[in-house]
Amino acid sequence: MDQRDDYDHLQKAGKRHLWMHFSRHGVYDDDHDIPVIVKGDGMYIWDSRGKRYLDALAGLFVVQVGHGRQELAEAAAKQAGELAFFPIWTFAHPMAIELAERIATYTPGDLNRVFFTSGGGEAVETAWKAAKQYFKLTGRPTKTKAISRQIAYHGTPHGALSITGIPSLKEAFEPLVPTTVHVPNTNFYRAPEHGDDVEAFGRWAADQIEEAIIAEGPDTVAAVFLEPVQNAGGCFPPPPGYFQRVREICDRHEVLLVSDEVICAFGRLGDMFGSNRYGYVPDMITCAKGLTSGYSPLGAMIASDRVMEPFLQGTNSFAHGYTFAGHPVSTAVAMANLDIFEREKLNEQVRETEGAFRGTLEKLLDLDIVGDVRGDGFFYGIELVKDKATKETFNDAESEKLLRGFLSKALFDHGLYCRADDRGDPVIQLSPPLIAEQSHFDEMEQTLRSVLTKAQSLL
Ligand code: PLP
Repeated sequence: MDQRDDYDHLQKAGKRHLWMHFSRHGVYDDDHDIPVIVKGDGMYIWDSRGKRYLDALAGLFVVQVGHGRQELAEAAAKQAGELAFFPIWTFAHPMAIELAERIATYTPGDLNRVFFTSGGGEAVETAWKAAKQYFKLTGRPTKTKAISRQIAYHGTPHGALSITGIPSLKEAFEPLVPTTVHVPNTNFYRAPEHGDDVEAFGRWAADQIEEAIIAEGPDTVAAVFLEPVQNAGGCFPPPPGYFQRVREICDRHEVLLVSDEVICAFGRLGDMFGSNRYGYVPDMITCAKGLTSGYSPLGAMIASDRVMEPFLQGTNSFAHGYTFAGHPVSTAVAMANLDIFEREKLNEQVRETEGAFRGTLEKLLDLDIVGDVRGDGFFYGIELVKDKATKETFNDAESEKLLRGFLSKALFDHGLYCRADDRGDPVIQLSPPLIAEQSHFDEMEQTLRSVLTKAQSLL
């Protein structure tokens, strides 16, 4: 087959047979092709036509060490040759043990117990089930509910989707697990209270969690799920003191604090865990994505010694698991990935250059359409507004026209792979591999400037 036939075949077969995730399949007709990515190297990816793009989203907040790392491919091949598969259901294999031990050296506090999963949503699902059983085993069987924040994304299994706070993602699947409650997030740009004082806003936002616990009844609430920096809605960092206050609230009402770090762990915020960066100790951490930099799928729920304790007693067990969780190949890849982190000092690199990244993106604030640039580490959201002075946002039709009708395609056509999202107000999300340098920050800024300037003229 020559290149043209190959291209046509992939398009035809893709349109006929592949069910893509979160995708509007109706879009892909004879005039609109599926973008097919065939290769990655460092900060760049290439499509099946040979066109190059800057990967400003690390795939999907995943490829921390960059694309094309042969040593990770080799680690996977070596492990597959030795022991390709064995479950961790009442058995173990060396890589799962060694990785669990290594992860425990990076976690805050006494989070020493690692329950592997295949990905992030499963880790969230696992944390909620573990919290419920923890309270059953310790004599408080009515503590079952989960609290999380509005617009937060926590995954797609029924439990994790119930915890997710984005109504449009849930409607098609109702009824979901009913015992979830959603509280305000830490969007300071649109703070409903204390818009001029970030610390007061943080206290208010934390207190909303306490109010929800009290309204539901503390003896019914098992866990609070929070991301260190909330992704959906466009990167809401925690106000100073927010997590310390949430920790106190959780302790006061005996509610477990789950730090959902599926995006925020493994260097995204310049530390192995976001909770380390913001100085709090949760009871559980959920993580995935950057743990292997995506060279093989893996997630984990990490529990404190206190949470694990009742599961160690007598004949108790956690009747929960996934065939592929803690897969030998994935755990071997994770070990090699973490070797790269340490050898190349990637966390230090993020902390040293995050100021330059922020400064470069903030140049875009001179555009009328850019209302806010926010985030931490290598994790940024750029909120687009209709009127900068009043912060007026776009209505649904305008947002649809701007994001789907123009921006997503224009950015990609201009060689920038990132994300234009409207799960809250319209934002552009940037989360590049941790090897990004000033030249890449500049490339992002310049491409965004040229495309957003065009977008302004269409309004
Ligand atoms: N939790 C958070 C905070 C996430 O960002 C995601 C995915 O982006 C998930 C959970 C779900 O992870 P997965 O897609 O691996 O199931």
